[in-house]
Amino acid sequence: RLLEAVSQNRLRAVNHTLHCTTMALTHTLGFPRVGERRELKFALESYWQGATALDTLERVVADLCEQRWRRQADAGCSWVTSGDFACYDLMLDHAAMFGALPRRFGLDPSRFGLADSFALARGTPEQPALEMTKWFDTNYHYLVPELEPGQTFSLHASRYLAQLNAARRAGHPVKAVLIGPVTFLRLSKCAVPDQKLSLLPALLEVYAQLLDKLRHEGIEWVQIDEPVLAGDLEPEWQQALRTAYHRLQSERPRLLLATYFGSVLPHLALLTTLPVDGLHIDVVRAPEQLQPIAAALPATSVLSVGIVDGRNVWRCDLRRALHTLRPLQVERGERLWLAPSCSLLHVPYSLDSETRLGSQVRSWLAFAYEKLDELEVLRRALVEGEDSVTDALTQSDTAVVSRQQSRLVHNDYVAKRQRAIDPSMSTRPSPFDARIARQRAALSLPLLPTTTIGSFPQTPGIRAARAAYKRHELNAFDYLQAMRAEIAHAIREQERLGLDVLVHGEPERNDMVEYFAEHLFGFAITEQGWVQSYGSRCVKPPILYGDIWRPDPITVDTTRYAQSLTDKPVKGMLTGPVTMLQWSFVRDDQPREQTARQLALAIRDEVGDLEKAGIRLVQIDEPAFREGLPLRRDDWPHYLAWAVDAFKLASCGVRDETQIHTHMCYSEFNDILPAIAALDADVITIETSRSNMELLDGFAAYAYPNEIGPGVYDIHAPRVPSLDEMQRLLERACQVVPPQRLWVNPDCGLKTRRWPETVAALGSMVQAARTMRARL
Ligand code: GLN
Ligand code: ZN
Repeated sequence: RLLEAVSQNRLRAVNHTLHCTTMALTHTLGFPRVGERRELKFALESYWQGATALDTLERVVADLCEQRWRRQADAGCSWVTSGDFACYDLMLDHAAMFGALPRRFGLDPSRFGLADSFALARGTPEQPALEMTKWFDTNYHYLVPELEPGQTFSLHASRYLAQLNAARRAGHPVKAVLIGPVTFLRLSKCAVPDQKLSLLPALLEVYAQLLDKLRHEGIEWVQIDEPVLAGDLEPEWQQALRTAYHRLQSERPRLLLATYFGSVLPHLALLTTLPVDGLHIDVVRAPEQLQPIAAALPATSVLSVGIVDGRNVWRCDLRRALHTLRPLQVERGERLWLAPSCSLLHVPYSLDSETRLGSQVRSWLAFAYEKLDELEVLRRALVEGEDSVTDALTQSDTAVVSRQQSRLVHNDYVAKRQRAIDPSMSTRPSPFDARIARQRAALSLPLLPTTTIGSFPQTPGIRAARAAYKRHELNAFDYLQAMRAEIAHAIREQERLGLDVLVHGEPERNDMVEYFAEHLFGFAITEQGWVQSYGSRCVKPPILYGDIWRPDPITVDTTRYAQSLTDKPVKGMLTGPVTMLQWSFVRDDQPREQTARQLALAIRDEVGDLEKAGIRLVQIDEPAFREGLPLRRDDWPHYLAWAVDAFKLASCGVRDETQIHTHMCYSEFNDILPAIAALDADVITIETSRSNMELLDGFAAYAYPNEIGPGVYDIHAPRVPSLDEMQRLLERACQVVPPQRLWVNPDCGLKTRRWPETVAALGSMVQAARTMRARL
């Protein structure tokens, strides 16, 4: 028996060495930064308020970095990732590291510190902040570096290197991460756009210096991110990639070129000739690219397979993943790396913080920590055999089956309703001209009607009441009374101001998506599922796991109550299907368009109930309509078709007399105007004041047929605009769009403002409209 045991052991040892020679490795492209309890957010905000010193903030940052490395190491990552942390934003930190500071701030790159980076990020009394925009199709916003023709670059990597060395001092093997030069340049803006590419050679010099430094530091691998490869690239930008990686060929650590958010197959020929040592691809978003790329990539190259979803919260189907990975492991051995599809920045930290998720839904989910664990299970299954991770695989199997079969996911009634959708449901009974005549008669509004976008200030009192209600310290009745008091106040103020179309003010809504998600079946709400949006700002996207069903009317009571207080028309206020979809974590077991249709049906029912309750205008907000556009233009028409369809399904179930509004903000519309027109909303309100009404020109040039409310004042700052400014914007609007089709409103909702400035600004707005009316 002893002998038997010995030989068993030996067999195991032999097996182990065999496996080791074909060992797959794991790593992550990036990790959340804000802290499990949003420590970074609170540290930043307290520093900005002057309540704490910079040292305190730096200590929080050091602790956070250490935690994220420890977590990666504990999960068995072959390296910890350094260089993906930023206090405010990573593009900003890269710009600073390369000495590319806009001259208007008058900052010296060699003495640039954390405090200066906040000046760029948040602006100063003299200078507006750097522009902010979305990181590809995520909800993360980066700061746009400002370059000028002939821009010079210089390397200031002490902060970057200090972080890396902190990771090493903590005893971790480190992989450094950089945003690649082509992505950095493409996402920057240049005062003379045509000359942007001419900055590449100078930029490459600083990258080369940095890589050389990293080599001297003994760094073995650098992950260099070029997510621009998932989008359209003009020939000159493809050439830029060639130029860049040939320039960065020598005197450097090994490079893993990281791509994500989509397929890079269109650039396959280019990719296989770039002198890099490895390639990361996203096979969650684009599974079809795995085989062709694995076949084309030289056997000596590392292939990092993004197999665990970095953009969504679902558990990985481990069995299926293993099936995909096994042949690759045989081919590539230790040159096969396992990773999340993209940085884990876009998912919450850990399920451990969630105490209220139902056990079934919970068993389907994986947040950042759990995703690292999944990678380790996959690695062990490949290296040590599936027997070593039986429990984990069984759990994964159970989750797959339960999600496929659960009554929480599949609702026969919803399926039946979906099958019964017919095209007539997505068209209003009459065309716009006929409708608008009836609406005018029914509503008897003046020329240039004034309105707001929906929300009024969320006062500390409102927040306190909601928090107390959620903690069960305030009963439902008292909470309702408190909200009604707010609604009554908002109605009184609007009447006093003389607005023409009133709103109830949305006091009961913490967030325009979460509020509706809380009231629909098929959604789960997390407690701590925060994801960074920009700087210290985080969002907590609801999780849409199942067929969407509206058990009861959601907004009818509040809206009807508001209407009962006034003779002026009150506009109902809903969030549209596309925005609900965009700002949630949504199902990956059915196409997004199908989920959008289910959301649309629920909203359609709500619109119908509002109409039945005597509400004559309903606004369906779609601020995320544009941001849903796919990264590649070829994919735009399909998206626009179903997105428009979802909106129409939600909005077209009403009589001609009922006026449908929609609202969109932070958007460039010019290239999607046909789709905006196809929504056929009777009125669209848009953010335009910051662009000095420029956006309106596009609508005019396109001869946009329906009514428009271009925002006449910016609601993002406490500043109260002068009557004069609004007057001027309104005049400009009247020159571009016939006044008969114009509305007068602010850029967006007022929930982040306070009452005094709100009343002052709206007072001037009404005044501006009246003056203009008198002149027409
Ligand atoms: N109705 C919402 C509000 O007024 C719209 C918000 C938005 O467009 N983001 O707050
Ligand atoms: Zn808005």
